[in-house]
Amino acid sequence: MIDLRSDTLTAPTTRMREAMAGAEVGDDVFGEDPTVRELEEEVAGLLGTEAAVYVPTGHMANQLGLFVASRSGEEVWAHENHHLIGDEQGAAAVLSRVLPRLYSGDPWPSDALLGSWIAGAREGNVHRAEPALLWLENTFSGQVVPLAEQDRATAFAHSHGMRTHLDGARLWNAATALGVGPARVAQGFDSVSVCFSKGLGAPVGSALAGDAETVLRARRGRKLLGGGMRQAGIVAAGALHALRHHRERLAEDHAHAEALAARIDGLPGIRASARTNMVLVSTPEGLGAAYAEAFARHGVRALGGGDRVRMVLRQEIGAEDVDAAARAIEKASADL
Ligand SMILES: *Cc1c(COP(=O)(O)O)cnc(C)c1O
Repeated sequence: MIDLRSDTLTAPTTRMREAMAGAEVGDDVFGEDPTVRELEEEVAGLLGTEAAVYVPTGHMANQLGLFVASRSGEEVWAHENHHLIGDEQGAAAVLSRVLPRLYSGDPWPSDALLGSWIAGAREGNVHRAEPALLWLENTFSGQVVPLAEQDRATAFAHSHGMRTHLDGARLWNAATALGVGPARVAQGFDSVSVCFSKGLGAPVGSALAGDAETVLRARRGRKLLGGGMRQAGIVAAGALHALRHHRERLAEDHAHAEALAARIDGLPGIRASARTNMVLVSTPEGLGAAYAEAFARHGVRALGGGDRVRMVLRQEIGAEDVDAAARAIEKASADL
């Protein structure tokens, strides 16, 4: 079985495990874990921010980004398919008690949309909630959000007194695809969340980066949520190893995604395209799950739902696996 459900399936390599086993540790709740500190400094350096805080999950990094930037009853502007909205169990409503104002369709908000949303909100309008935070995601379902669009949207938000957050769970993939450093993708945001546990292949962990004040408040928030970890250097060492040794290889995942999409696009019933490390197959309405089942019968596990199937490339999936997956999907296409 070739498992292409997610890049979260990436497992630590032998060298990563060795780095973890040898990590120097201390009590991170006392701020005394040297490996966690080193990781936080390295992340801040890579993202061009003053500081960063290590957290167990991307979910927590996102929620802290929201928590520090909003007060109860304020608006966060996001896409209906952002992870914040669809994949964090309503935590935005439970923990920060904010009002999401959602757009759909286009992966980033147009000037016209932003303009219509801001209109009246700050002119003594007693009906509207206060807009607090503009949320973006890059990559978004594997798609790279162009930097010009990010710059435009973040400048708009700042000019209207809103803060900005980037869900950069796969920021590393966006930077790789754009051929820029991670700091360029993070530019213009007051807070940025990144994951080490996706394509980078660390077993655990994410970070929230931003200015010192933002990160200090997020550090307090992390403790509030029960995310104070003790000798976390053991897992942070895996993240540090991933940042230093696995970022460059993300380009291989992107190349494999291109190769797989090229092989299967145009097979009977299959329209496929590559987006960074993902291959998305668009299916007739409602047949995503049925397509994924057909793929699984022939040896490829994928996530299917709605009108699409998602396949994600990762470190363990080599060129031979891409070839085998393409042949399996070719057989499966006869069942569609
Ligand atoms: C995976 C993911 C997260 C959350 O990461 P976890 O570590 O699984 O909580 C957040 N945002 C996006 C876009 C993701 O893909």
